[in-house]
Amino acid sequence: MAQAGYEVLLADKSTFPSDVLSTHNFFGNSLAMLREMGVLDRLLQTDTPLYKRAVVQFEDAVIDGEFPEVDGETECLCMRRVHLDRLLFEHASVQARVTSIEGFRVTDVIREGNAVIGIEGVRRDGEKGRFTSRLVVGADGRNSTLRQRANSARILAVPTDFASYVGYFSGYEQSGDLHAELYKIKDKIGIVFPTSDNLYVVGVMFPLDDQDWSRRFSLSPEAAMRDLIDSGFAGSPLPDRLRKARLEGKVRGLRGYDNDWYQGMGEGWALVGDAFSFKDPAVGQGMQDALYSAYLLTDVLSRYDDWGAHWEEMAQTYQSLMEAKMMSRFHMACQFTKNVPFTPEQRAVNRLIAAHPEAARSFLGIYNHANEPSDFERLIGSLLAMNESG
Ligand SMILES: Cc1cc2nc3c(=O)[nH]c(=O)nc-3n(C[C@H](O)[C@H](O)[C@H](O)COP(=O)(O)OP(=O)(O)OC[C@H]3O[C@@H](n4cnc5c(N)ncnc54)[C@H](O)[C@@H]3O)c2cc1C
Repeated sequence: MAQAGYEVLLADKSTFPSDVLSTHNFFGNSLAMLREMGVLDRLLQTDTPLYKRAVVQFEDAVIDGEFPEVDGETECLCMRRVHLDRLLFEHASVQARVTSIEGFRVTDVIREGNAVIGIEGVRRDGEKGRFTSRLVVGADGRNSTLRQRANSARILAVPTDFASYVGYFSGYEQSGDLHAELYKIKDKIGIVFPTSDNLYVVGVMFPLDDQDWSRRFSLSPEAAMRDLIDSGFAGSPLPDRLRKARLEGKVRGLRGYDNDWYQGMGEGWALVGDAFSFKDPAVGQGMQDALYSAYLLTDVLSRYDDWGAHWEEMAQTYQSLMEAKMMSRFHMACQFTKNVPFTPEQRAVNRLIAAHPEAARSFLGIYNHANEPSDFERLIGSLLAMNESG
């Protein structure tokens, strides 16, 4: 927004470095946006590897391929949030027209009639503060205070069936080129990304209603994670790799969340990122959508000089741009978030993707936005038709 010419006050309740529970992978489309924001080179100076390959195992189908090029980028980057959030905050803070405050927790909005005209909050030392502005943007995550105080309407909500736990490991070894790993075997999901400081971030998901695993993760998260990977992902390379690896820090978890979609703008306020829509982490769309929404919001704001006279029109435009960009993958997340086994037809499609490199590329292209899910479906349709006629 500052680069588009607006005066910005950036307030965050955290002080940096701060850690956020996430597996934090960026696909190539995000790298392109970070490059345009002028921060990518700085991120790449940290000890975080780039990679191009993904190995996805859906039951017995193993899809092994490289992400297609998107917006001139072929690589992915999974940077630990202790580094990423600090560097992004620093980069934003030194932009012209930006004033930043760390450790300031927004507690409420200031209103004039129906319109939001500012924020109030509290610093870590207890001092209260109030700021007024033409627009307040809630970029404050999944449990957004701004969203709640602005009375944004919840449009869609699909609760997950899964609990998620995440840990960082050293000494984890993959074979071949560095790659992302995704497993869905029966009712368990596993995710691995190579990340900063020679570590791998490993995430597991199991059904929320599985009381045995819930109890074990509550009592001893590391032992539970290792046991779950040993038993749940037998037959994949994951158990052996994890057995040789050492946990660094703690295994942390998130028990239950909704995939949700909100009203993104009203008089004097707007939402971006998870505050607008949270999606199941298994589809890895959250971080890029946080970037996209900042771009889309700036684009909409830049189309109007007199915001006061156009709130409704701007809100409709913003909502429909967000829908066009994200809704198909939001629905993908809503499917993935339900604990339902693959149907026989889905298993056949999974095997087809595994057998055809162009299908694997198009499948991975859904994740990095190189192509749309509908392009992938057309390709699968033609491969199925060829199989039937052959
Ligand atoms: C287990 C897990 C794994 C994930 N894995 C991935 C992945 O691999 N790839 C991916 O793309 N996404 C992933 N996600 C989702 C991703 O973490 C989010 O989509 C992304 O962080 C959203 O960014 P955001 O800026 O909207 O919110 P956040 O990253 O949550 O940032 C919100 C910011 O607002 C600040 N804040 C909050 N409340 C206040 C307040 N009241 N006042 C002031 N400041 C406030 C916080 O300090 C924070 O800095 C995962 C999420 C989880 C839970």
